[in-house]
Amino acid sequence: MTDYNWCHNPDCHIIETQSRVRGSGDNKVLRTIKIKQGRYNGYQNGIWDYFCNQRCLMDFIRTHLISIVAIAPRREALETPIKVEKEKYESQRYRYTDNGYQPQTYQATRTTIKSVDND
Ligand SMILES: [Zn+2]
Repeated sequence: MTDYNWCHNPDCHIIETQSRVRGSGDNKVLRTIKIKQGRYNGYQNGIWDYFCNQRCLMDFIRTHLISIVAIAPRREALETPIKVEKEKYESQRYRYTDNGYQPQTYQATRTTIKSVDND
């Protein structure tokens, strides 16, 4: 098993950066970036094991968008049952007066979305 991947952006090797330059003398090339697996310990489901950076990830998505969404098509909206709780509370804001900015108390509303057991 290899412990690295090549960046999956089909155009990674076209991007002009020093980090992609390989070879010597007159035989230099821009090469696809080699990525060490687990470099970010599975951060964001390991997506960075396959793409060297955000640009390459977005290039890949743009190139393969139709194929990617075809994997799990969404043809109708999904819904999650919730309860919305509204709660009044006293808060303060600053208003400009003849004495400069002064705190003023006012009634504020806090809206909280609560999940609902769906059994
Ligand atoms: Zn790349």
